[in-house]
Amino acid sequence: MPQKLVVGNWKLNGSLAANEALLKACEALAGADIAVCVPFPYLAQAASLLNGMALGAQTVSEFKSGAYTGEVSAEMLAEMGCRYVIVGHSERRTLFGEDDDMVGRKAAAALRAGLVPIVCVGESLGERDSGRVMEVVGSQLGAVWESIGAQGLSRAVIAYEPVWAIGTGRTASAEEAQEVHASIRRWLAKYDVPAAEIRILYGGSVKADNAAALFAMPDVGGGLIGGASLAAGDFMAICRAAVAKRDC
Ligand code: PEP
Repeated sequence: MPQKLVVGNWKLNGSLAANEALLKACEALAGADIAVCVPFPYLAQAASLLNGMALGAQTVSEFKSGAYTGEVSAEMLAEMGCRYVIVGHSERRTLFGEDDDMVGRKAAAALRAGLVPIVCVGESLGERDSGRVMEVVGSQLGAVWESIGAQGLSRAVIAYEPVWAIGTGRTASAEEAQEVHASIRRWLAKYDVPAAEIRILYGGSVKADNAAALFAMPDVGGGLIGGASLAAGDFMAICRAAVAKRDC
């Protein structure tokens, strides 16, 4: 199994002063890969203060160039030093109308520029309550598979983020997360993706006090961290939990 990967998603937060303080207080730790996905205007600042961590963005255009006002291409992100880009975050899907096919095209754009797409999937509470978790997650993954194939998916990171757990303070239990992660791994294997090698992150109200239990699960390859990535002490505690559970 590869090292655990911990990715901070700052969402629409930050200022030059706050970012500097946060990044100066965070650092890469041996035994974990750590990345921060920052708002576009702060990419250059973050690139200069990374302390050994990797840089990422929170979304990307499906287009390479042209008359697409407001869009940012994967090539531009790569030029700014990004290694990762989040695609298909549930906030993009629900608030900005991104559908499964668009997420697939964005994943393809990321790979075209040499970036690693962090492909977010996850069900709503209603979908979970009606027993449709893998139906939903499978169709989200299926659209990405249609776009980038098994080979493309083998170069991606998957983030399982149940929508009901994002920013709500309600986390999936470690066992609930493990069950879905194992199902995702089975899904990947069925579609010829080298499933054992793929990092499947868990996201949804990961905090310093629940990270260790989540990272102890065999199919949880790390975490995608929203709110808790904005406080250096909390984020570093989560990263240390990833290091400690590396070989579990
Ligand atoms: C996220 O933004 O991807 C996320 C998981 O947020 P939070 O950790 O705040 O639930």
